[in-house]
Amino acid sequence: MNKFEALGLSDVIVKAITEMGFETPTPIQEKTIPELLKGNTDLVALAQTGTGKTATFGLPLISLIDFNSRDTQALIMCPTRELCMQITRDLQSYTKYIKDANIVAVYGGASIDTQTREIKRGAQIVVATPGRMNDMIDRRRVNLSHVRFAVLDEADEMLNMGFKEDLDTILSQTPEEKNTWLFSATMPDEVLRISKNYMSNPIEITAGTKNAGNVNIDHVYYIVHARDKYPALKRIADSNPDIFAIVFCRTKIETQEIADKLIKDGYNADALHGDLSQSQRDHVMKRYRSRSLQMLVATDVAARGIDVQDVTHVINYTLPDEIENYTHRSGRTARAGKTGVSIAIINMKEIGKIRIIERIIKKKFTEGKVPTGFEACEKQLFSLVKKIHDVEVNEKAIEQYMPKIYEELADMSKEDIIKRFVSTEFNRFLEYYRNAPDLNASGSKERERSFDSAPGITKLFINLGELDSLDSTSMKEYISEVSGVEIASIVNIDVKSSFSFIEVKTEAAEIIQGTFKNARYNNRSVRIESRGAASGGGDRRGDGGRSGGFDRRRSSGGGGNSYGERRSYGGRSERGGDRGERGDRGGYSRSSGGGERSYGEKKSYGDSGGERKSYSDRAERSSSKPAPSESSSGGDRKSNFSREKRPRKKF
Ligand code: AMP
Repeated sequence: MNKFEALGLSDVIVKAITEMGFETPTPIQEKTIPELLKGNTDLVALAQTGTGKTATFGLPLISLIDFNSRDTQALIMCPTRELCMQITRDLQSYTKYIKDANIVAVYGGASIDTQTREIKRGAQIVVATPGRMNDMIDRRRVNLSHVRFAVLDEADEMLNMGFKEDLDTILSQTPEEKNTWLFSATMPDEVLRISKNYMSNPIEITAGTKNAGNVNIDHVYYIVHARDKYPALKRIADSNPDIFAIVFCRTKIETQEIADKLIKDGYNADALHGDLSQSQRDHVMKRYRSRSLQMLVATDVAARGIDVQDVTHVINYTLPDEIENYTHRSGRTARAGKTGVSIAIINMKEIGKIRIIERIIKKKFTEGKVPTGFEACEKQLFSLVKKIHDVEVNEKAIEQYMPKIYEELADMSKEDIIKRFVSTEFNRFLEYYRNAPDLNASGSKERERSFDSAPGITKLFINLGELDSLDSTSMKEYISEVSGVEIASIVNIDVKSSFSFIEVKTEAAEIIQGTFKNARYNNRSVRIESRGAASGGGDRRGDGGRSGGFDRRRSSGGGGNSYGERRSYGGRSERGGDRGERGDRGGYSRSSGGGERSYGEKKSYGDSGGERKSYSDRAERSSSKPAPSESSSGGDRKSNFSREKRPRKKF
């Protein structure tokens, strides 16, 4: 026997929910459905969204309704329009095989006349937000005198949102002998008051521990400095290439700002908050549900009740003012038995709030480390490899090009081809993360120290950098060519604006220093020293600071070296609003009389991304924007990423 049939549900209902993929009842369904089917039960259920609570009340409800009658027999109240539509959709699916079932959603922001007409056609179940329902009662558009079942879903949220009086008014319009079923994620006094006022001997059911969050959620916090919050968010996203997240902010302004930055930085993201029109919100939700968006940046109110499957991460960009809201936020992931991660990006001072949340959710957080640039890079690389592995080949379309492609690649081995294919993307990742700083508020110094002392490696300083149109690859080639050491001996190059650090195998360090004694680059003498010797000098002026971004300031003569005709990039706005082109400073000359070779051809920096467009425009652009560097949105480091695209498409 089907497990839902065993709970007492009819075969028409079981058929419909089987088609929806319901095979086994969730714990709360198993406990509650048989009780509610008795038909004379009041219920107080402590349950999060994601536990299957809609079906918990919905399935018995439709079993108890007389669909031959056109009277409104059930009224379901919930806090938001989104949840209202969702419950309605769910109930309509459950009643797919029940003739004459008519379930109507009633919420603000849509035509009250249309909704009235739908009810008048005979809605046995009305799902409503309190404000609109109150309005309907005022205008005598609805008759609640036949209501036998009142369901209050997310009761705590309705009270938080100030619907207490509306609820009292609405419930007073319904017959006293009705059954009331109340669902709430938390049980504050006000909710208990409702349960006392409107119910007689309700059965109490708890899905999980009282006030506890979903056990399938891992709670993690990252401690960062305030200025690193946004880079940390991006690092988290980059380390999870398949992320499908809701990012919670505290205010509408912050929500829009973060979404704008993410869009500008090449992520498939958009904002959801109360300042958007209803149709804009619908549009955003549609794109999120269809996974055209990977990150939905939302306020608590706007995201309430959202049920989207397979949200992988909930990210608390800012912790909620009402700490209790944390439970609602994290409940957006790990739905229907799945697992999920709820992340809080906090500063040192907020650790106390984490402890309070731990007490509320009865679960410990783990302290996470914001992934390093290298880790993010590695994740991206293997995601790329997986994508290549899984990509669906359009044989027909590609067929005609294959002979030519084979011909072009004929001189390469399979290994070579794989390396090159992967490198087309991977080089960009490496470049992007090259100077990525440690974003963890604790531990960055340690990392720097351990970096310095790697055994067998010597760190050298060179007075050439990005301003000389060198990147790590061209710098490696240059050093190898001048010194004669193998490229493989050059382990790592950290290119800053006007200088660079080179990590080389210790045995190669001396050779490099020796051979570079008379080297010149663009008619300037090149200086290479062991790192200790250079660190006290004035050359560090170009260090873009914490983020390692390159410096746009001109040489001011301070420090040891003069850099001659080094140009500034002039005039670009801080947000990268206009096109800035970097001066061409290519070419190095070797003192040994070798031929000149030009490195660092012109690169352009960022496209004109500063303007604000209508939100849908911006959203559409999101998939084709380059992902920039980490330091901030639109700062100089954006340029490091070149203008190539890192498309984030549907997945
Ligand atoms: P809810 O807690 O009602 O918001 O439900 C969370 C999600 O789980 C919804 O998408 C439901 O369709 C789904 N769901 C509910 N019950 C089951 C079940 N027994 N088996 C599979 N999915 C379910």
